[in-house]
Amino acid sequence: MPTNVTRTNRFTLLTGAALLLTLASFRLFAVAQQAEPTKTPANKPASDDHAATSNSRPAEETKETKKELFSGKVVLLQEALKRRGVKSFDEVKAQAVLETDAGELIPIVPDWRGRAFFQDERLRDRRVDLVATRQKAAPYLQVLMIFFFDEKGTRHYMDYWCDVCSIPMYEIKPCDCCQADIRLRLQRQELPTFVKPKP
Ligand SMILES: [Zn+2]
Repeated sequence: MPTNVTRTNRFTLLTGAALLLTLASFRLFAVAQQAEPTKTPANKPASDDHAATSNSRPAEETKETKKELFSGKVVLLQEALKRRGVKSFDEVKAQAVLETDAGELIPIVPDWRGRAFFQDERLRDRRVDLVATRQKAAPYLQVLMIFFFDEKGTRHYMDYWCDVCSIPMYEIKPCDCCQADIRLRLQRQELPTFVKPKP
């Protein structure tokens, strides 16, 4: 039947057009989202925003999961145990731990922020301040912000940076945007007020 065929064709065309429009708007949305990080000024790390959106749930934030300051050095668990006379097999080899000033070993979770300590040896065996959370029942450190110190003792916020795209990243990988190499970036910055030790 010619009429039916025409109707079917028109229906297919209309559905196709609607689908294309939907796809186009999704694409625009995706592009807008990707473009967002480039708006972050170089001197204002985006870590707090990132942490707020992906890690913390303010409504459920309890005393156990509050953001705290942890100071010490990040080392690998096996060598830390060895120094204490504890022999261990290689299963623990890759685990990064914070060895606090008080001598406590706190394992770091290899998540979006803590993973860099497993990947990048430049971040280990040096004095570090971590803004992190630790749950009471699972005492692993969930790192939110990383600070190092220069030879004069000045505090620097650490992240990774793509000079081409001007976007911050938090682990070693090719740039999310242009796939080029990214560099370790240190920017002079004070601790956030909510973890600042009281004078
Ligand atoms: Zn890039």
